[in-house]
Amino acid sequence: MAIKLQLLTENPKEIELIERYWAVDESGQYLEKVSALAGIIEMAQGVTLTSFIRQRCNAFDEHQVCLKCAELIEIKNRSEAKKVPQRPTKLCTVCQEDQDAIVLKAAKAKSAELERQLAEYTRKQSTRTVDYSEIPDNQVLLLLALDRAITPRLTNGGFTVGDCRGLAPRYVGDFVQQLREAGLVFDDPGKARPGTYYWEGDEIWRVRDQVVYRLAPDVASRSADEIIRSLVDRVYTDADGIFNLWLDYSVADVMRYLGSQCELYHHDLSAAELEEIKSTMRSALETYSVSQLWSVAWKVVRDAASLANREYYNRPKAAATIPGKIRRNLEKVQRESIELKAWSRPEQHPAGTLGMVLGEILGVDENTSGHMVSSLVTWLTGHACSPSVEAELGEPTRELMTKALAHDASSSVMLRFAELIRAGHGVRFAVKEIAGSFST
Ligand SMILES: [Zn+2]
Repeated sequence: MAIKLQLLTENPKEIELIERYWAVDESGQYLEKVSALAGIIEMAQGVTLTSFIRQRCNAFDEHQVCLKCAELIEIKNRSEAKKVPQRPTKLCTVCQEDQDAIVLKAAKAKSAELERQLAEYTRKQSTRTVDYSEIPDNQVLLLLALDRAITPRLTNGGFTVGDCRGLAPRYVGDFVQQLREAGLVFDDPGKARPGTYYWEGDEIWRVRDQVVYRLAPDVASRSADEIIRSLVDRVYTDADGIFNLWLDYSVADVMRYLGSQCELYHHDLSAAELEEIKSTMRSALETYSVSQLWSVAWKVVRDAASLANREYYNRPKAAATIPGKIRRNLEKVQRESIELKAWSRPEQHPAGTLGMVLGEILGVDENTSGHMVSSLVTWLTGHACSPSVEAELGEPTRELMTKALAHDASSSVMLRFAELIRAGHGVRFAVKEIAGSFST
């Protein structure tokens, strides 16, 4: 017999049942069917024959030995027994327990090391201070917007990315990450849920949504409340930083609208396609307004939806045309000086506190073209238009005004000028365009 039994009962009837259960012939075939053994001994309800036998006898397969100590391997039921000797792959119960203990000990050591490193990180962070009067303008604006989104948690303890939902229409995690990389907020591992930090090989990884952040301490030991209040009085000077923040914010506003339109028509865009659209939209925002790009998104998503219904097309194929269509659409608008329509803000898409803060300092909203925002940022930061641009505009502007007065068309020229600027064109383009209408 290839099965070695270790009886745990002295009851002769039970011993008989156990021996009949495990009995095999020379070829390893079981002598009796399990069904034939049922009913020999009455068992409590819910107890199977196999479990009844297992409780009263340990069975070891002589065809399976431990990889480590060559002892026989314990088996639970008939189907685990092997008819011929096996190459050792498993561990016996004792060796398995030894190994589990080693693994557990290593895991405990790793976990203690994680605790140690996180405590060390927290200690280092809390001794590091920030001079908030020296941080760049865009970070000031982000902090003011963040404070408004999660008040009073920014100054009053920890917050998670999920808490910051009100900050921007999308990419909230990226905005928080900007602050983290700048060293203005840092992780507070002690406040995070267990499992937020874990080992991945020899590196510590984090579940980003669960990380609890805290505002970095001030160099002058002011309270977080005082820090935020001091930022309100900031005199802004960094034109590029502010304009880029406006672009980051506005692209989020455009992408949320696009996302909701795609959802409506069940277009499933890949991460790479979304990235491509995002970068197209970001560069278009240097010229146009958010609400104009909403109209582009609206049109392109609908076109793709009707394409999806055509023969030889399917949804993924139609969705894949969206990034290219947006690009071509914008190229055409620019080439043919088409005036983009502007959509109004959907009620369910609030601007977010970053949009509000930018709106307050610049006087802009979703209808302000990128050109106009750029001018407003220049005005706010006191960086005058570069002299060369002004000089370059001098001659054509003089010419246009002379013509306008000669044709008694000064008011219609001003209205047309305003229209073109609102449509997202630059000053140079607008002057040239109107002057051109006089020459015919
Ligand atoms: Zn062993």
